[in-house]
Order: sequence, then structure tokens, then C-alpha cells
Amino acid sequence: MANRAYNFNAGPAALPLEVLQKAQEQFVEFDNSGMSLMEMSHRGAIYEKVHFEAEALLRELLAIPDGYKVLFIQGGASTQFAMIPMNLLPKGSTAAYVATGSWATKAIQEAKLFGETSIAASSEADSYKRIPSIVELAYSPDVAYLHITSNETIEGTQWSEFPDTGEVTLIGDMSSDILCRPIDVSKFGVIYAGAQKNLGPSGVTIVIIREDLIVKPAASVPTMMRYDTHAKADSLYNTPPTFAIYMMNEVLKWVKANGGAAGMEARNREKAGFIYDVIDNSNGFYRGFAEKDSRSLMNVTFTLANEELEKQFVKESEAQGFVGLKGHRSVGGLRASIYNAVPPESVRALASFMKEFHSRNA
Ligand SMILES: *Cc1c(COP(=O)(O)O)cnc(C)c1O
Repeated sequence: MANRAYNFNAGPAALPLEVLQKAQEQFVEFDNSGMSLMEMSHRGAIYEKVHFEAEALLRELLAIPDGYKVLFIQGGASTQFAMIPMNLLPKGSTAAYVATGSWATKAIQEAKLFGETSIAASSEADSYKRIPSIVELAYSPDVAYLHITSNETIEGTQWSEFPDTGEVTLIGDMSSDILCRPIDVSKFGVIYAGAQKNLGPSGVTIVIIREDLIVKPAASVPTMMRYDTHAKADSLYNTPPTFAIYMMNEVLKWVKANGGAAGMEARNREKAGFIYDVIDNSNGFYRGFAEKDSRSLMNVTFTLANEELEKQFVKESEAQGFVGLKGHRSVGGLRASIYNAVPPESVRALASFMKEFHSRNA
């Protein structure tokens, strides 16, 4: 495809071209069935094969140990902000959160609707430019769980290692960096992620939950908001988002064919390096937002000397086929989201544009 944009959108975001083309081929008729996958029952054998293949691939690619359920739920990661406390924060307990930025803040706000929260560490005083170090974390051993946001999509910060929380259940919102690198799932009680950054289109959210945490919540929790509902029914309690799950399955096949989680990490480190190198070698023309040891492999955030120059950067980049480089309205500046599916060639093209823009505006 000749005129494909250099897509740096933050989410929904770039998908592998091969996946889009295969989906196009399979769209009208799936597997000699005389119909589209979107026209058939989610209780039929053809859809079920796709559904369970996606689950098996996620288990394989993330090396999910036995004793965890993988759930496909709707409502986005934002719904998980509520489902986590609804299911896992019993009356009278406190949930600890690490306040790392915009998304962690939303998770905390939602938990407050259901119970007590405490802040185990916060980088708010540093404008969320960094991820607190593991030694800074302070929480009572009695908390119901400790919640972290592995990658702050808006600020462009990412945890480089995860804490060992022992008996305390660790919960991770990995919406914007799931499968960007290998992780040790066994450190977590729950991992959740909306699909539309690294796994596929919007519409499905994955929840990886240790089986002992799938308990009957308070009687007032609605059926659809209970993990045990979805776990018992293999995420087929009600109609799942069949197209989103089909697309995710194809993206997972693409990840596998490209080296799995380790292959993605190598590719992502190389890509992120292209842009951070330009920033670091620009004599302050480009200023990285995140502190160096908290930099994200997925969202590269930076500013220029003033807003006017940033506007000019966005305008000129758009004219050259770059999309999505304006920073989130809450922090301003510029942001390049370089999720798994963003091709290295797009990132190399951006690095060249940045150098050229610098030399013209130095
Ligand atoms: C995008 C994002 C969310 C929100 O996801 P929705 O699917 O839109 O609800 C939550 N957390 C993080 C880290 C995100 O990047």
C-alpha cells in the first residue's frame, strides 16, 4: 500500500498491515462457511475455535503459568478501574495505588467509589515525569492489593522492573505496554489491558487473573461486573466482541511470527532508541518529558522551546504524512506512540524528520 500513513496514534493505534490485509480477505466469507465471522453465533464451533485460539496464544506469548484465567471483557480498561475494587476490595479493607500519572489517577478515583485507598508512592510532585523506585513503595501488609500502571501512556513513563509484593496481590494496568516485552506474570494477581494499543482494535479488554482471586463478590455487584461470571463461562457468558477477538487473534499470530515477546522487545528497544537518540543529541532543542530511567518504550514524550514551535512541528509533520504526534491535551508537547505494530521504517522516518526540523529551526 503506497500511501500508508506514518501512524503514531496513541490508541486506537497502528495495526500490522499484514493483519489488516488478511482480515480484508477473510471479511466477507470466513472458513468456507458461506458467511462472515461477524454473522455467526458465538456459540458455534467456528467462532469458538477463534476464541480459544486467541486465549491459547496469549497464554503462550506471555508465558502465563497454570492457575490463571484469561478473560475477554468489554468496557475497556476504564471498566476494570471499577471491576477491580468491586471484586477485590472487601468492605473495611484498603487498596494501595501507585500514583504515576493520568491513568493511575483515574484508577484511584474509581476505587474511591468502592472503599478506602492509600497511596503507596506518588510522583505527582515531579509532574509525573518518573516512576517511583521500588524502594519508595510504602503500604501496609494488610492492603487488599497494590495497583500499578506499567506504562503511563500520556506522560510516557514505564516501569522497568516490577516489585516483589510477597503476600500482597499485585495488580497491573498494562493497557499500553502488554506484550511489548517478556514479563513475569507470576508476580501479579491480576493484569488487565484494553486491546487497542498493543493487541488489536478497541472492543475487548483482557484480564489475566489468578484463580484464587476469582471469588464471589458482594451480592450487590452486577452479574456482568463479576470476574466469576466471565471465568465460569470462558468469557462466553454473554455475546463477546467477536470481531475484536478475531482481530486480536490475528495480531497475536503476527507477534508470534515476529519473535514473540522477546522479539517485540528487541524491535521496540531499537525503535525507541531512534527517537530518544535524536532527543539526546539535539543540544536541548528537543526535551524529553520523562526522566531517563523512567522512559517508555511505547510512548515517547517531548517538548520544544515553545508552543508555537510545537504547533509548527505538528503542522509540518502532518504535511509529510506523520499522524498523531500532538501530545495529549493534559500535558501538551509532542508524543510519538510506537507500539509493537508501528514499523521500524516509520520510526526511522520520524527520526529523520526530527533532525531535519531541528536543523531548519535551530
Ligand atoms: C488507554 C488506557 C486506558 C483506558 O482504556 P479504555 O479502553 O479507553 O478504557 C487505561 N489505562 C491505560 C494505561 C491506557 O493506556
